[in-house]
Amino acid sequence: VPTAFTHAIIPFSLAIAAGRERIPPGLLVAGVVASILPDGDVVPLFLGVPYASPFGHRGFTHSLFFAGLVALLGALLLRRVPFPRAFAFLFLAAVSHPLLDALTTGGLGVALLAPFSDERFFAPWRFIRVSPLGFSRFFTSRGLLVATSELLCVWLPCLLTASLLWFRRRTLATAEQ
Ligand SMILES: [Zn+2]
Repeated sequence: VPTAFTHAIIPFSLAIAAGRERIPPGLLVAGVVASILPDGDVVPLFLGVPYASPFGHRGFTHSLFFAGLVALLGALLLRRVPFPRAFAFLFLAAVSHPLLDALTTGGLGVALLAPFSDERFFAPWRFIRVSPLGFSRFFTSRGLLVATSELLCVWLPCLLTASLLWFRRRTLATAEQ
């Protein structure tokens, strides 16, 4: 688990890069929800469902299938945005969650192929420090270390890329005028 804020930075960066005309605020909010939603599986974890079970933490909700489901539902609900664009944005937001989790240094891998396979996946390189699960424990020295690693490994590259794309879009738009 990178923290919820760090998951949310992905839809934010995508929205900055694509622009408000393409990603209106309603779609952005839905994207933020889609990027955080997979960690709703900590609820069954605290209720006693084992971490490694298919419905445990980083299980079914961290799969490509789940991301597709969330994107489909969201895109159907957001009728003012063209379906393919809403679906693509929400799918990227939702799937970025398990992909970021797969880069963390702790816990079990993500069940990307659930419900078809229970295998847990990690990326070949893992450099984001895993965040403590409980919110209270976040405000400790370990929490600080996690925050620093997330800022450097996720926020910085995401916001930098997004700003560059935004800037490029701006320059192209002014050039056309
Ligand atoms: Zn997660």
